[in-house]
Amino acid sequence: MNKRIEKLRGQLAESEERVDGYLSINVEASDRTNQRYLTGFSSTLGCTLVLEDSVIFLTDSRYIDDAEENLPEVELKKIDSKAVETVAELINELGLEAVAIDQNDVSLKFYNKLKKLLDGVELLELDGVLGEIRRTKEEEEIRLQDKAADIADSAFSHLLDFVEPGLTERDVALELEFFMRKNGAESVSFPPIVAHGAQSAKPHANPGKSELEPGNLLLVDMGARCDGYCSDLTRTIHLGEPSAKVKEIYRIVLEAQLSGLEALGPGESARKVHKATSEVIEEAGYGDSYDHGAGHGVGLDVHEGPKLDDTSDDTLEPGMVVTMEPGIYLPGWGGIRIEDMVRITEDGYARFSHAPKDRVINPL
Ligand code: ZN
Ligand code: ZN
Repeated sequence: MNKRIEKLRGQLAESEERVDGYLSINVEASDRTNQRYLTGFSSTLGCTLVLEDSVIFLTDSRYIDDAEENLPEVELKKIDSKAVETVAELINELGLEAVAIDQNDVSLKFYNKLKKLLDGVELLELDGVLGEIRRTKEEEEIRLQDKAADIADSAFSHLLDFVEPGLTERDVALELEFFMRKNGAESVSFPPIVAHGAQSAKPHANPGKSELEPGNLLLVDMGARCDGYCSDLTRTIHLGEPSAKVKEIYRIVLEAQLSGLEALGPGESARKVHKATSEVIEEAGYGDSYDHGAGHGVGLDVHEGPKLDDTSDDTLEPGMVVTMEPGIYLPGWGGIRIEDMVRITEDGYARFSHAPKDRVINPL
């Protein structure tokens, strides 16, 4: 069976309470990526029961043939009517005493129903056990994220060629998405953020119909997805010759970003890494204009653990993939953010993103 299931079993074995199985649910309001991570199989309806020496995957007629082809080492069970009833029946039949379930994976409705249908089986509630395991990437995951990051880098070079006055933010977003998908991405990791002029002061602006005009900032935040794995890249450029103020703010954000990167390494506190970025921005007098964390983990989800912000208790470890993305946002004027995706190595970090960022780029 795959290494991930072994890692999960290892974690469960450390539990002080008795656990006979782990139930991963992907029905209704649940975290789909956890199940994809665990089994390598993507579906909109499935439940995985990890037992001491076997794994049972339950899904319905839409996925059962595909699951049979793709999950040869897993026992399959078809869900004919309601998922919760089929799962409860299976657990009751197996005579398990205690089953672990992650509260991030399951809707309250499903949980309550399951609890009611189980016959003397204890449900042990966990919080983020797979999320923890997912933080440290395997070689294959890193390879896919490297590919996804290369596609985003190429999309940025492409942007510098095609961007011109008169295009709308939506035109740019569409072109970036089209380019990434045409160049090997299965999809985008999130709809591209394209923010022009004063819109760029909103860290996560929705692309609108305003037309690009010279004399404005243009912030793009985008990522590609390859076999489920995401990349995340932000660059801010200037349409036309940048003013002294644009150059100055850009220099401060870049300095903060480099200072954050410098602070990365195994054993480092994520909160301290955030501080390495916020201190630079505060010292320059823009502390109030930087209101988000320095970065986040990236994997099957574009936002996952660890968190790099001023409340984080996370410690960085080799194999973690994180972003470094400080910014300064001035309402009515605009915003500048620079984001790279990197991985933590045994002695520091290695960058996935290689799009240029050393100066304000003027593509016009
Ligand atoms: Zn981003
Ligand atoms: Zn990000």
